[in-house]
Amino acid sequence: MAKEPRPRECQPCTACCDGWLQIRVNGVPVYPGRPCPHSTGTGCNDYANRPVDPCVHFICGWRREGSPLPEWMKPNNSKVIVLFNQSRWRGFPVDVAVPVGKRIPPRALKWLQQFAEKNNRMLLYSEQIVENGAYTNQQSVSAFGPPEFQQEMAERAARGETFV
Ligand code: SF4
Ligand code: SF4
Repeated sequence: MAKEPRPRECQPCTACCDGWLQIRVNGVPVYPGRPCPHSTGTGCNDYANRPVDPCVHFICGWRREGSPLPEWMKPNNSKVIVLFNQSRWRGFPVDVAVPVGKRIPPRALKWLQQFAEKNNRMLLYSEQIVENGAYTNQQSVSAFGPPEFQQEMAERAARGETFV
């Protein structure tokens, strides 16, 4: 009988604790360049008391049950956090990919683009904007999909909409 796959574990990844997703932890803002004060870089030093929202509830696309992302796409290794099904565009699911660092490495981005193409999914992916060697807490967002999708996302971004 085939063995049940083991649930995926976070450790030693702390990508979502380290500011690459903009969150608030017990009221403290966490953003690029400002990790959660409880992150050790390989775990959480107050795991038993971590807040329910966002810490207990949040599961990235790699960790979720039945994830299509391969093992090597674990965020601490691939340097990208994937959030599936963040919205829909003309009936197609839209996934969002956020870099762990300045930008998504080419191997991971290529995998995501091929996955989107094969499965009729839209992809929005971001890059951190750095000024004078420091993160600005702003991102530029690119759209991968049909030209109409790219154009619509560019227009929405120009109007000041944020996607990640
Ligand atoms: S990014 Fe994913 S794997 Fe990494 S700590 Fe967060 S939920 Fe766990
Ligand atoms: S409290 Fe712990 S689990 Fe929550 S963001 Fe901070 S380090 Fe991560």
